[in-house]
Amino acid sequence: MSFDVNNIRKQFPILQTKIGKYPLIYFDNGATSQKPQSVIDCINTYYETENANIHRGVHHLSQVSTENYEEARKTIQAYINAKKDYEVIFTQGTTDGINLVASSFGKLLNAGDEILISQMEHHSNIVPWQMLAEERGLVLKYIPMNEAGELILDQLGELLTEKTKLVSVTHISNALGTINPIAEIIEAAHKVGAKVLIDGAQSLQHMQIDVQQLDCDFLVFSGHKVFGPTGVGVLYGKEELLNEMPPYRGGGDMIKTVTLEKTTYNGLPHKFEAGTPNIIGGIAFGKAIEWLAEQDLKGIKQHEDELLAYATEKLNEIEGMRIYGTAAEKGSTISFLIEGTHPYDVGTLLNQQGVAVRTGHHCTQPIMDFYKIPGTIRASFSFYNTKEEIDQFIIALKKAVTMLS
Ligand SMILES: *Cc1c(COP(=O)(O)O)cnc(C)c1O
Repeated sequence: MSFDVNNIRKQFPILQTKIGKYPLIYFDNGATSQKPQSVIDCINTYYETENANIHRGVHHLSQVSTENYEEARKTIQAYINAKKDYEVIFTQGTTDGINLVASSFGKLLNAGDEILISQMEHHSNIVPWQMLAEERGLVLKYIPMNEAGELILDQLGELLTEKTKLVSVTHISNALGTINPIAEIIEAAHKVGAKVLIDGAQSLQHMQIDVQQLDCDFLVFSGHKVFGPTGVGVLYGKEELLNEMPPYRGGGDMIKTVTLEKTTYNGLPHKFEAGTPNIIGGIAFGKAIEWLAEQDLKGIKQHEDELLAYATEKLNEIEGMRIYGTAAEKGSTISFLIEGTHPYDVGTLLNQQGVAVRTGHHCTQPIMDFYKIPGTIRASFSFYNTKEEIDQFIIALKKAVTMLS
């Protein structure tokens, strides 16, 4: 099976949409991905014929729903190569997964313990740690980055100490596209006995991850960025670690027994899944991963690398162009500014020509502070995008710049 972008595009109905008289050019994949027909059909079918609450019912629909939900967990387990299906915890998304770890793993930490993150994290991988550090008297440290937007790993040796309990870093920067050398970071962290959380919100849609080979302790990601629905995500954690951690939220499904005096908790994964979950979200996320697993993943990677190289070359031909994030290893995301224009104005004029990009700080204000800029224009590509779309985007961009200068 070889990679055929036209065949892929046919499976994403939204790509046929027009914005005014212009065909939609969707370059905001870093914010959320579009959904293939099989995921959309799965959602419809569920509500039309299968809807029921899970895990509790003796009736037919409840059993079907439960089976489908647990099947989705197994699909995701297989895709990330987790040892056990119950190491896959359904969450509401990446943000929720990180908050779960901060709240629960955080209870095992003591004053003076250290957490190491990086300067290029998404706010959702900064704020929960700042809150936790304040609450428990922890020390929060940052791996710095250089002008190219690469982590400066020379300093890792000094930053990691006996007191470091957790290192939490993004695999791919949502603002700059940098692919971080997470295998190297995980190995260094493990040498001092620290656990490692990988923020995979920007990586699973571009490359497969094998959690056992990588040996990460936690991996978090969001359904909506990997061709599934919003409001669902996954926290992968190693079994021993998840067993040591206290529950996150209390409620139904996460208990074994409840009396008015005392509650005993359910085992994994239910211990961390209180209340009625996003049932169809989980099922449809499983469907999205199933769909992805059937694609030509090597072809996808090659196509996205070509889009990145082509767009970088074309953008650099524009006068006053500055690309932020020029790391040697990059995913298909480009952040840029054009001298004499405001990103918001450029984004608005692009939208008027059917091009969807994101402007602003991309939930990474420390990166913007580093470059001393308020924000950027970000074009983030997925494998359903084409070189022809990039050509149209460049034409639209040049028109916007002319209008603004
Ligand atoms: C999008 C994103 C998040 C947050 O994901 P949500 O789906 O909004 O919870 C965290 N980290 C990175 C790198 C992201 O791109």
